[in-house]
Amino acid sequence: MIPHAFLQDLLNRVDIVDVVGRFVQLKKGGANFMGLCPFHNEKSPSFTVSPTKQFYHCFGCGAHGTAISFLMDHTGLTFPEAVKELAQSCGLTVPQEPSSFRGGSGEGYAPGPSKAVSVALTEVMQAACDFYRKQLRGAPNAIAYLKKRGLTGEIAARFGLGYAPDGWQNLETAFPDYRNDNLVEAGLVIVSEKNDAQGQSRRYDRFRERVMFPIRNVKGNVIGFGGRILDSGEPKYLNSPETPLFSKGSELYGLFEARLAIRELGYVLVVEGYMDVVALAQLGFANAVATLGTACTPVHVQKLFRQTETVVFSFDGDSAGRRAARRALEACLPHAADNRTIRFLFLPKEHDPDSYVREFGADGFGEQVDRAMPLSQFLLNEVLNDKELDQPEGRAKALFDAKPLLQALPANALRVQILHMLADRLSTPFAEIAALCDIDSRAAAVARRAVPKSERRRVTGQEQRALRNLVMYPSIAKALDQESEQTLVLMTEHGELFGEVIGHARELGADAEFPVLKDLLQNGPNAPTYEDIFQEILAYDENGRDLMIDPADESASERVQEQKKLLAEELQATVIKLRHDSYRARLDQLARQATLSAEEVAEFSELSAKAAQIKAARVVSRDS
Ligand SMILES: [Zn+2]
Repeated sequence: MIPHAFLQDLLNRVDIVDVVGRFVQLKKGGANFMGLCPFHNEKSPSFTVSPTKQFYHCFGCGAHGTAISFLMDHTGLTFPEAVKELAQSCGLTVPQEPSSFRGGSGEGYAPGPSKAVSVALTEVMQAACDFYRKQLRGAPNAIAYLKKRGLTGEIAARFGLGYAPDGWQNLETAFPDYRNDNLVEAGLVIVSEKNDAQGQSRRYDRFRERVMFPIRNVKGNVIGFGGRILDSGEPKYLNSPETPLFSKGSELYGLFEARLAIRELGYVLVVEGYMDVVALAQLGFANAVATLGTACTPVHVQKLFRQTETVVFSFDGDSAGRRAARRALEACLPHAADNRTIRFLFLPKEHDPDSYVREFGADGFGEQVDRAMPLSQFLLNEVLNDKELDQPEGRAKALFDAKPLLQALPANALRVQILHMLADRLSTPFAEIAALCDIDSRAAAVARRAVPKSERRRVTGQEQRALRNLVMYPSIAKALDQESEQTLVLMTEHGELFGEVIGHARELGADAEFPVLKDLLQNGPNAPTYEDIFQEILAYDENGRDLMIDPADESASERVQEQKKLLAEELQATVIKLRHDSYRARLDQLARQATLSAEEVAEFSELSAKAAQIKAARVVSRDS
C-alpha cells in the first residue's frame, strides 16, 4: 500500500498543468488553464485545470481529478502505474508500507524536510555564501582566474561567486559553532572517521581552494554550491552532496538568475557547465542554465517549461556531448507538446558555447541557435543513422529503435508528423508504422473504468448525505470525536464505507481534499458504490467552482469555510440522529421479545434514558 503522505507529497511536486498539457492544449484563463475536454466531445472549452489546487474539472461532463486520475483515465494506466510514472518524473521512488488501512502511521516514508529544518539549513547556506564572497575579495589568484575567463566584477556579484580558501576549517570563522550538525546536514562540513585529541570525530570543510558558484532555487535561496578548482587539481568540479535542500537531479544552475532574460529572449539555453552559464551571461546570453554534472532529467525539463515554451540544448561536439544530447532527448519526449519548441545545438568539436561566442561573436552564436536542430530531426537521425535502409533488416531495426521514442511522445500533432516522416523514410505506409509501434491504444482506458451497475450498493437517506458531506469535504472528519466515529462505523447500514472514508480522511490530515480522496476511493474495494456520490457532487457546477477556489482568494475561501462549517454541523446532527435511531431500533427489538434477561432489562432502561436524553437535547437545540 502506498502511504498517503507520499501521494500528497507527490501531487504537490508534479505540476498538473504539465501532465495534462502533454495531451491537451491548454490556454491560460485567469488563475486557471482551459482546454477542450478530452473526456467528452466539445467545441468550446469547459475543461479547467487549476494550478493552485492541482486538479482538473470539466464543467461539461463532470470529469474531475488529480494528475494521477488524469493519467489513468487518459492513458489507461492502473493506479500504481500512474503513481509510479509521476514519481519517476520527479525523481521519487514509490515507497510501500504494509497494508494497514487504519492506524497506519505513514512511517517508512519521509516527506520533504520540515519547515524548521529547511529554514535552519537555508540560513546556514546563506552565511556560507556570504563568507565565500568575502574571501574572494582577498584572493588575488581566484580574481585573476575569473578575469582570465573574461568575467567582470559585476557578473561575479550577480551570480554571487565566491572563494573557498586553502585550509581545512575555514568555516570555523564563519559560524559560532563549527560542530553544529546543520553544517554537516547542509553538506558544508564533512565528519571524518578519525578522532581528534579530545576523542571527538574530526570535522573539515568540504570545499577548499575552489571558486564557489552558489546554486539558488527559484525563490533565490542558496541551496547548494558548485566549486571549481583553480588549476589542474581533481576533481575539477565538486558539487554539494544531496541534502534536504538540494537534489541535483531536479535543480538547474543559473535558473534563478536567468529568469528575466529567458522571458526577454523567448527561450532558455541549456549548457553543460556553470562556467559556461556565467561566461555566456557576460557575453549577452543571460538566458543560459546548466545541469549540475548529471544528465538532463524529466524534472529538469519540466522546470524549464515552466519558464518558457522554447528550450535549446547546447552540447559539445564530442561523443560525450552526443550521449548527453541523447539523454536530454529522452527526457524531453513526454513534454513535447505541440505549442513547444525543443532544439539541439551541436557546436563544432573544438568548441564549447563560451569559446564559440569569443571566436564568432554574439551574432554568430545567435545564428547557431536559430539553426539548431529541431527535436523531430534529431529523433529521426538517432533512429535512422547507421542503418541500411535499403534492406528490410535495416528498416526493421530502425522501427525497433523508433518505437520507445514515439511511445514516449504525447499523442499530438507532432507525433503524427514524425510518424509521417518516418513512414516516408522507411517506405512503409503510415498505418503500418503506427500499428507496429503500438501507439494508438488509449481508448481502452475510459471503458475500463465504467462499472456495471450491479456491483453498486445503494446508500440512501441520511446516511447518504452524511457520506457525501464527508467525501466532498474530508477535512470535516477531524471534527468527529471517537464516539461519533463509532456511531458512523458501527451503527449504520454502510458502516464499512464510513470506516473507509474516515480512515482515508484522517490519514490525509488537515490537507485532506476531495480529489485525492476520490482517487483513493476509486481504487479501493468499494469503488462502484461511491460512483453515485461522485456524480452527485460533480453534477453541480457550483460544487466544481467551490472545489476550485484558490485558498489565497480570501472572500471566496471564507464562503467555502462557512459551507464546510455548515456541513460539519449537519454531519454532527446526523450522527446524533443515527445514534438515536439505532437506540430506538434496539429498544423496539427488545420490546418485541417475550421475556428479557436481567442484562437486557438493564440495557433497555439505559437505552431508553439515552434516547430520551438525545430527544430532549434536540428539542432544546431546535428551539434556541
Ligand atoms: Zn468533459
